[in-house]
Amino acid sequence: MIVAIDGPAGSGKSTVASALAGRLGFRYLDTGAMYRALTWLARRNGLALDDGGALAELARQHPVSFSAEGKVDIDGEDVSAEIRDAEIDRLVPAVARHPEVREVMRERQRSLGAVGDSVIEGRDIGSVVAPSAEVKVFLVADEGERARRRSADRPGIEVDALTDDLRRRDERDAVNTQPADDAVILDTTELGIDEVVESIARLVEARRG
Ligand code: C5P
Repeated sequence: MIVAIDGPAGSGKSTVASALAGRLGFRYLDTGAMYRALTWLARRNGLALDDGGALAELARQHPVSFSAEGKVDIDGEDVSAEIRDAEIDRLVPAVARHPEVREVMRERQRSLGAVGDSVIEGRDIGSVVAPSAEVKVFLVADEGERARRRSADRPGIEVDALTDDLRRRDERDAVNTQPADDAVILDTTELGIDEVVESIARLVEARRG
């Protein structure tokens, strides 16, 4: 079974998706981490971020992998910490917007998701990567709440600056952040992690019959 969890930055996707995967005993796939790792590698190799063809080739040559402990690896390097830098936050939409890059990433995401029961989080999972996913959820939350959540992950950066960053990233990611027609939209603004996980687990149970 595939559970697709999509939504914008700060909507609670990562926390919810990994907790849900743990609870269900499913594999957890963070597709945002894949675009982040590619962005990190492109920077390290000095590639122009407006060259979609070269970036797609880089992605093809260096598939992202995840260790059993969830570490993110590209080109033989553990980049789990580096890909969470504020600079990567800002640059990643420039890489993710290229259709050639998305093509390579989506193929890889499909093959990683095909290994077994998976919770896959991202922005286009229910709509494009896995349109036949059995459960599709699209998480949303108020902008202020999303910025507050971000500030917990990015200590030392003002909430105002994070709000501006979120707004810019939302605009740039908008075209690839679309709920599937059959996704359940869940507003997490006033919900705790456990409540969100519980409601998605109920959808999974209902689907299993
Ligand atoms: O979810 P996260 O904030 O880690 O995603 C980082 C970036 O990766 C997003 O801002 C977006 O540009 C890109 N992304 C995407 N499609 C996905 C997942 C992430 O375009 N399925």
